[in-house]
Amino acid sequence: MKCCRCSEIAEAVCRFCGRAVCGDHIQGMNYIITVYVGKKAIPRSLVVADAVFCGLCKPQPEPLDMPYLDTD
Ligand SMILES: [Zn+2]
Ligand SMILES: [Zn+2]
Repeated sequence: MKCCRCSEIAEAVCRFCGRAVCGDHIQGMNYIITVYVGKKAIPRSLVVADAVFCGLCKPQPEPLDMPYLDTD
């Protein structure tokens, strides 16, 4: 598998979109495993710091509404 940003052999795969990246183009991004409600009803997230990120995809900072999945 080759890097999505050049033609070098890829060393890792983006945690967010699955693109392959080489050592030169690998980037880090916090990856949220799960979100839960903590003390005083404050939402908290369990995060992996510096997960593999390709630099091309765009992880959204907040959940998106998906009204087309609403079956009511
Ligand atoms: Zn590359
Ligand atoms: Zn990506």
